Amino acid sequence: MGAIISLDSPLKLLFVSTSVGPLGSGLGGGVELTLHNIAQELMSRGHSLQILAPTGSSLRTLPIIEIAGELQTTAQTQLRTDPIVMPGAAVLANMWDYARRVVPDYDLLVNFAYDWLPFYLTPFFPRPIAHLVSMGSLTDAMDQIIEQVARQFPRTIGVHSQAQAATFSFASHCRCLGNGFDLSLYQFCGEPQPWLGWVGRIAPEKGLEDAIAAAQETGMPLKILGAMQDAAYWQQLCQSYPHAPVEYLGFLPTTELQQVLRQCRALLVTPRWVEAFGNVAIEALACGVPVIAYRRGGPAEIVKDGKTGWLVEPDSVPGLVAAIAKIDQIDRATCRQQSEAEFSQAAMGDRMEEWFADILGITLRPA
Ligand code: UDP
Repeated sequence: MGAIISLDSPLKLLFVSTSVGPLGSGLGGGVELTLHNIAQELMSRGHSLQILAPTGSSLRTLPIIEIAGELQTTAQTQLRTDPIVMPGAAVLANMWDYARRVVPDYDLLVNFAYDWLPFYLTPFFPRPIAHLVSMGSLTDAMDQIIEQVARQFPRTIGVHSQAQAATFSFASHCRCLGNGFDLSLYQFCGEPQPWLGWVGRIAPEKGLEDAIAAAQETGMPLKILGAMQDAAYWQQLCQSYPHAPVEYLGFLPTTELQQVLRQCRALLVTPRWVEAFGNVAIEALACGVPVIAYRRGGPAEIVKDGKTGWLVEPDSVPGLVAAIAKIDQIDRATCRQQSEAEFSQAAMGDRMEEWFADILGITLRPA
């Protein structure tokens, strides 16, 4: 972990949230917790910060300015060649209109939305915009506009993992920032229950069916937690696996999420796509829960195979079943230790300050 750093004087930051759902709804996926953690850490370091987010947003104690308008369609439901679609009264447009009016009050804007508009608007703003890109390459239109910004404004494109960056033709222009968590919120559990866990948005790209199939085959109950993003997909899973030992517990706030998660023997992470990072893998490790994940995307960079979980051939249910059979070989204390060594909120705060300083062309001094 690098030395603690701090900027000479506090920054005035404007965070612009995802436009696919209100903060706290779970529809924004990992972006919601990521934004929360970064905001909390930077505010604790004395930076001043406002968050623009869709109406209905709430993020514990953080300062949110709610903006009305229609939500954006998620990029992962688009086909590669689809054009950009904007609803008439788009919350995305309204958030950036608000940002345009208040921009002189800020040093730096941070965009958390995987949407075309903020990238397109970047050259028109009188202050730099840092873009924290939350997913890998999905559509040609998004690739094109992100690449344009990456070339015109080097250093402004942040990603979460090398695997995510590698999905883009401009990988070498991306800054890999990982992620960080308030680990005090996650309690270690050394003696789990005989259950497995699966945590994520209920949506096809997350591959829940493989976790259900593995639960059915091993007979080990599976607790499912997460926002219901695609109800038709869920109905289809219920019809395909009517007797699988699964229980859907809904979308829970972090404190309640960890109470269930910590008791699991393992977390199954079964994405079909190149998961940019996989917040839930770290949350599991922080509770001492080993992670069984497909060897692709962010989770393959997180899990230490044979030490803090098992990496499995992608899309292989027999692979998951074999990994479940040897889960007792993983020491749960080692899982917690890995989260502390690599994924603390303070370490992420350092990386974010370094990134912002780099974009703004200012230097850092030792704390
Ligand atoms: N999550 C939550 N409550 C739940 C289930 C999930 O708060 O009941 C959060 C979890 O903490 C994580 C996010 O949902 O931050 C899922 O993010 P991840 O990076 O794993 O996947 P994404 O949805 O971004 O693809």
